[in-house]
Amino acid sequence: MTPCAAGRPDRRWRLQTAATNIAAMAMKFSEFSFRPEIMRALEEVGYRDCTPIQEKTMGPVMEGHDLTGMAETGSGKTAAFLLPILEKLQAGGDDPRAVVIAPTRELAQQVAGEAERLARHLDVRVVCVYGGTGLGEQKNLLLAGVDLVVGTPGRLIDFARQTYLRLSKVRWLVLDEADRMLDMGFIRDMEYVMSKAPMSRQTLLFSATFPQEVRDLSAQFMHEPVHVEVESPSLTARNITQFAFMVGGMPDKIRCLKELLRKEKPEQALIFVATRERTAEVADMLRRSGEAVASISSLLSQVNRERVIQSFREGRTRILVGTDVAGRGLDISGITHVFNFDVPHDPNDYVHRVGRTGRAGRTGRALTLVSPQDRPYLKAVEAHLGIQQMERGEGSGAETGGETDRDRSPRRGRGGGVGRRPSSGGRGRSGGGRGRPGGGNQRRGGTRGSSSRGGRSSGSGSGSGGSGSSGGSASR
Ligand code: ADP
Ligand code: MG
Repeated sequence: MTPCAAGRPDRRWRLQTAATNIAAMAMKFSEFSFRPEIMRALEEVGYRDCTPIQEKTMGPVMEGHDLTGMAETGSGKTAAFLLPILEKLQAGGDDPRAVVIAPTRELAQQVAGEAERLARHLDVRVVCVYGGTGLGEQKNLLLAGVDLVVGTPGRLIDFARQTYLRLSKVRWLVLDEADRMLDMGFIRDMEYVMSKAPMSRQTLLFSATFPQEVRDLSAQFMHEPVHVEVESPSLTARNITQFAFMVGGMPDKIRCLKELLRKEKPEQALIFVATRERTAEVADMLRRSGEAVASISSLLSQVNRERVIQSFREGRTRILVGTDVAGRGLDISGITHVFNFDVPHDPNDYVHRVGRTGRAGRTGRALTLVSPQDRPYLKAVEAHLGIQQMERGEGSGAETGGETDRDRSPRRGRGGGVGRRPSSGGRGRSGGGRGRPGGGNQRRGGTRGSSSRGGRSSGSGSGSGGSGSSGGSASR
């Protein structure tokens, strides 16, 4: 049960224990001897037992190791990196000691909110910086002194270039949704941040997915990292039931979606579409049949993005149509259903999209509409998940002519799910080449307010898609 020990150079990715029978095996937070202010916050937010990724990573992070943490969606990765940082962070400096970078504004705000929740009895000042709003308010918060910054790449780099945000004191640098942060859209930004942060920093990467290219790439940013992977029976979270519905063209997709919404009666549903233009289109079509629907994409103003997410979080909006801008990291407990109106072209996006349901041990349903054009992408998803065929949903294909008999699954109806993930042994390796982190065990500093919803500012949007200073898909 002891968290894994110090890393050796060039070690293989470690496979940790399977995430089954968690309740029987889980370590309690009290076994980590966090300071009393943190223990009190944990009690108040209702965290008693560690999730497997928390149990396996918090020790090495507190010992000062660089680390990659991989565990299924909704398994508590945020607290896994925040708690050890908050334990060691000495509040009260001018420049941030900890920086967390996330791919979308919504996720940055959510992570900052979790940091504030866990740090509510500490004096740690949290500032969230993100694009789409004026620079002024966020700038003032940074100038007032900050301990932990959470941000999206574009805005963070804007502030760093203008020297309102100095990265020279950074001791912990976290990339949440790390594989997304190190992909083509953001890699230049990450290289910039890494070059400005001291060599002695600790670099922490967390995600539910780590494609091989990212594993290889990450080696250059890390020093003798510890790799923690919580093995789960499937790449997608265990408690998400998944079906594919073979349909015809666009009209048939809409018909099928409406029918499924009627049949499934989701408490809350998140519907993913391929392009930001399509979000409004699909939302309008659903509205016409009487559904109360909102949509989100990088086409919306920041104020509206925040309104839409807030309303969805609070359960006032039942159905949200979005792009992959809503695909990463969002933790909204009421989402019982995820619909893929289009099959994502990157199978990793599929894993993240369906991971918006079935959070923190709840169950969820993920239903994917597959037109003839989507077929190759479904095949890619199936291959990625290591399954022969995703279970076909009831009514699939038959009345739509959307699939041939040969394509159809022998098993139909409810209750399916996907099969086992492919063996993940020997997935890449990583080495390092930087200075060592220091390891002090600082105690708390003084109390002051914190703010995670910085201000509004314009400019370099964040948000995947129109996000970051250097990229992301423009269509999201
Ligand atoms: P991930 O980043 O792995 O997708 P999150 O960090 O967003 O997951 O956490 C998912 C949910 O689990 C959140 O609602 C969070 O509050 C909750 N959670 C995290 N850790 C614990 C814990 N130890 N006990 C109970 N709930 C937890
Ligand atoms: Mg997360």
